[in-house]
Amino acid sequence: MAADLTCPTNVLESALQQLDDAAALVDLHPDVHAKLRKPRRTLTVSIPTRMDDGRLEVFTGIRVQHNMDRGPCKGGMRYHPCVTVDEVTALAMWMTWKCAVVNIPYGGGKGGVICEPMQMSERELENMTRRFASELVEIIGPEQDIPAPDVNTDERVMGWLMDTYSMQKGYSVPAVVTGKPIAIGGSLGRAKATGRGIVFVTREALRTRGIPVEGARVVVQGFGKVGGAFAELVEELGAKVIAVSDVTGGLFNANGLPIGELSAYTKQNRFIEGFEGGEPITNEELLTLECEVLVPAALENVLTVANAPHVSAKLVVEGANGPTTPEAGRILIDRGIFLVPDILANAGGVTVSYFEWCQGLQMLFWTEEEVNRRLEDVMVRAYHEVHGRSCDLQTDMRNAAMAVAVERVAEAIMARGIYP
Ligand code: NAD
Repeated sequence: MAADLTCPTNVLESALQQLDDAAALVDLHPDVHAKLRKPRRTLTVSIPTRMDDGRLEVFTGIRVQHNMDRGPCKGGMRYHPCVTVDEVTALAMWMTWKCAVVNIPYGGGKGGVICEPMQMSERELENMTRRFASELVEIIGPEQDIPAPDVNTDERVMGWLMDTYSMQKGYSVPAVVTGKPIAIGGSLGRAKATGRGIVFVTREALRTRGIPVEGARVVVQGFGKVGGAFAELVEELGAKVIAVSDVTGGLFNANGLPIGELSAYTKQNRFIEGFEGGEPITNEELLTLECEVLVPAALENVLTVANAPHVSAKLVVEGANGPTTPEAGRILIDRGIFLVPDILANAGGVTVSYFEWCQGLQMLFWTEEEVNRRLEDVMVRAYHEVHGRSCDLQTDMRNAAMAVAVERVAEAIMARGIYP
């Protein structure tokens, strides 16, 4: 577990640098640029929580709303000891670009609580979540800000959030969160949507590069909601997942790991540690394995100037948010590695969250096939819009995705003007 305590730094600097680069590329109006460099609203709250031993622990919770010009803020809630205002701000900013790049009518938000959820009981997590939700009631809601799961939060946490908000309002408000249980208005297909979306863009990127999907060697860091679902679904497409890792370390098998068995094992044992289907490797070794596709799907800033020169993948598809520092990104691109940026690659989750919100507002629910078909349409269209833009601008995929996103947000800001 020690690896988990190495907190990423300078994530906000990375996010601002990406915005500044995009601003230069699309000749962004300086007023719009200035507005987008700052979040619209940052709320920090204390969360007094009764622990199982009777103690009162006071956690800190954060919600950042970066931009609302294209629609309500949308973004996950993260429970992690490394949560900071800067990190949440960067993540909220990335949500603004992500929603714009797949062209769904949302702005960006993000939240988090500084805590160690692995060491908390279910009751403690529920107490903390409900108190946090009641502190957020004034600023969240289907028309203003819609939380979703992120690192260490899941549909159970979304259920508590939805229930607390609904209790305060006096009636059920399913559309206040997404990623909630199906029984209270969750969408079919949401649980695997981010991983499925990464599979669609990986397939398109492999085609663009003329690499067959069948037999492609895939390496995945992080075996949680995103990495786990991606690994399962990419295997179904005929690729070979040769290595995966989580916070306890990694596993390698040149012939391909049995992902179905590994998923069943982690459902029972939480972590991949102890699974006997491959050789143990470290997270650091995993990142430099020779493969066609590397998918960092754990935390930020794992690809750095130190390891980027040694990455031996043909494609890096960013499953996590911000897994590559700006300098590392430049090294990878200069080395001819095709990088599919996070705001495009992992946008499948927010896309199906949008579908869930639409279904909740209409009280009309779709089949899983319909959800997956619409997701594929959105992801494939977004991939080709960004790829087309990268060809037109003769730039890499991150710059191109940022150009598409920032222009869409800028258009909305210009159309609305500055209040008052
Ligand atoms: P999760 O908590 O379900 O899984 C995280 C995984 O990363 C776990 O397997 C964990 O053990 C592993 N991990 C944690 N620290 C690690 C370390 N230091 N080294 C190696 N592995 C480590 O979280 P998730 O929802 O899968 O999110 C993963 C990433 O994807 C995050 O960056 C998140 O912001 C991003 N993301 C999530 C979604 C979503 O729908 N859940 C959508 C878009 C982006």
